[in-house]
Amino acid sequence: MTPKIQRFLEQRRPESPFLVVDLDVVTENYVKLRRALPRAEVYYAVKANPALPVLETLVGLGSHFDAASAWEVDQSLEAGGDPARISFGNTIKKRRDIAHAYEKGVRLYAFDSIEELHKLSEEAPGSRVYCRILTTSEGARWPLSRKFGCELEMACDLMKQAADLKLDPHGISFHVGSQQTDPAVWDIAMGRAAMVFSDLRDAGIELRMLNLGGGFPARYRGDDLPPIESFADTIMQSATRYFGNHMPEMIIEPGRSIAAEAGVIGTEIVLISKKNYDDDVRWVYFDVGKFGGLAETMDEAIRYPVATPYDGSDEGPVIIAGPTCDGADILYEKNPYTLPLKLKTGDRVELLSAGAYTSVYASQRFNGFAPMAEFYI
Ligand SMILES: *Cc1c(COP(=O)(O)O)cnc(C)c1O
Repeated sequence: MTPKIQRFLEQRRPESPFLVVDLDVVTENYVKLRRALPRAEVYYAVKANPALPVLETLVGLGSHFDAASAWEVDQSLEAGGDPARISFGNTIKKRRDIAHAYEKGVRLYAFDSIEELHKLSEEAPGSRVYCRILTTSEGARWPLSRKFGCELEMACDLMKQAADLKLDPHGISFHVGSQQTDPAVWDIAMGRAAMVFSDLRDAGIELRMLNLGGGFPARYRGDDLPPIESFADTIMQSATRYFGNHMPEMIIEPGRSIAAEAGVIGTEIVLISKKNYDDDVRWVYFDVGKFGGLAETMDEAIRYPVATPYDGSDEGPVIIAGPTCDGADILYEKNPYTLPLKLKTGDRVELLSAGAYTSVYASQRFNGFAPMAEFYI
């Protein structure tokens, strides 16, 4: 937790649950990534945290934006973003949302199917388009499965058809899965992308852009992560190996690695209980859970570090759950979390690395609980 957030918590003591984001950390993370990978332009994945102060901070730093919907396009523009610096990166778009983005000046679009390509040729004529390819997301804590992307042969065909449809066949993209801890998967994906580049070059189409996606990890509980430089080194070595003198323009779309560590969720302990008199394990109920924004605790995939007022004192095993009446609202049961024995109902605790994929995941009023308040400092 940064001193700025600590001071904010002490002075403001906002009613929980809430998210507080230190914008200086957003800046630091952006600068660190740019410095490690100067050849790659950053397109911040708006979905990770679309709050205006975050986007405005990034506009100030010269960031581009990866938007997934008409609302995210508008939000990026409202923050002062330039439409020429927005990519509509979702491969699944409504016609009217494409038309909306095009009208606002967006000229860069993702696709992975022939039907989407037809939509783009009609609603965003002449735009630059890039095809998303399937790749492995092994090693990712939050994989993206086979929902997005197509096989290489299809990608080649589609890019040729893009040219026939008077679109500008611009590049190839992939995403190695979110919270990806293994740099080697970028190498695999870049090798696959390079095959599409070279097949298309043989067909007379010179692609110009390689989109390396997001996936760069943030620090959560128990993580031993390679530094960002190892990801950058792997990427640059692979770029040289696979593209040599035909190095394309490269872009990255970090979401989590920009926003996660900038945020802290404040929560209050609603209840501590046991199921049996001689149980060792305490059930600890927070006032925020799966439906209040902690959706990424699904399958206990993302493990937030928990800070308490008694850190350093004796701890015992706990099961951590949210406040709703839904049986699925358990955060950590299989993963061995421990919390101080002194912890009591009414105490305030903080979930760290919580600035990405939290506020936006909160349900409207499930069980009557309002979405958490948000503070950007
Ligand atoms: C979600 C997403 C990102 C961001 O991924 P992170 O793992 O948060 O960096 C980037 N690009 C696309 C297309 C995405 O869907």
